[in-house]
Amino acid sequence: MAQIALNIENLEVSYGNIKALKGINIVVPEGKIIALLGANGAGKTTTLKAISGVVKINVGNIKFFNRDITNKDAEKITSLGVIQSPEGRQVFPDLTVEENLKIGAFTVKNKNDIDKNFKRVYKYFPRLAERKKQIAGTLSGGEQQMLAIARALMASPKILLLDEPSLGLAPLIVQDIFEIVKEINEEGTTVLIIEQNALQTLKIADYAYVLEVGEINIEGRADELIKDKKLVEAYLGGH
Ligand code: ATP
Repeated sequence: MAQIALNIENLEVSYGNIKALKGINIVVPEGKIIALLGANGAGKTTTLKAISGVVKINVGNIKFFNRDITNKDAEKITSLGVIQSPEGRQVFPDLTVEENLKIGAFTVKNKNDIDKNFKRVYKYFPRLAERKKQIAGTLSGGEQQMLAIARALMASPKILLLDEPSLGLAPLIVQDIFEIVKEINEEGTTVLIIEQNALQTLKIADYAYVLEVGEINIEGRADELIKDKKLVEAYLGGH
């Protein structure tokens, strides 16, 4: 039996009077790709922020491999191997690809492990290998997104939290990126992906949750959700 990597129970987060999350439950088994889908403002980013320790959790709890990480310091949570890949635009634009990646490895102390991680990310993203010395701000949108994911991988994540990797990218590039995410997962990294692009995401995910204004009303195996045309149209949009 796979272990539970991340277990989110009855999570509530408020911004002042606004309840952004109204008691959600999410289970991420080790080795899987779990998707959290939903429209703008549904609370997807807030969920990631709660996991990473950058917003305060009002009610509920989050466990990472059975260890309570509810409202722990963001730094502590990162050091356990919970690593978020931000939206692609958030790479360091004035640094080179290689420098961005080096910064990603800041939690990894062993030089051999850092070298291994460099090899690994350049294998996944040969386009970044070709552009080691290029200033990140001059990369295309798709390449910046690749760099954001690669930077997260440099930290040797036990779970990779992906924040809308398809945002603003052309469909073919999205397909490339999702294929790489699948490959990363097949080589052992657990993934929680939040997305608006539901159809593409369901193709690579094992299980998905649909968030609607702070609540999860639909969840199920990705291969089943994708067959439900009405549901896909009504709730998931996508291309
Ligand atoms: P998007 O896809 O647009 O990023 P999302 O599903 O990630 O949307 P969140 O960013 O989690 O949604 O936002 C959920 C709700 O919380 C929204 O109503 C948003 O306006 C509100 N919210 C988010 N951050 C804050 C904040 N710092 N202060 C006040 N309200 C916030």
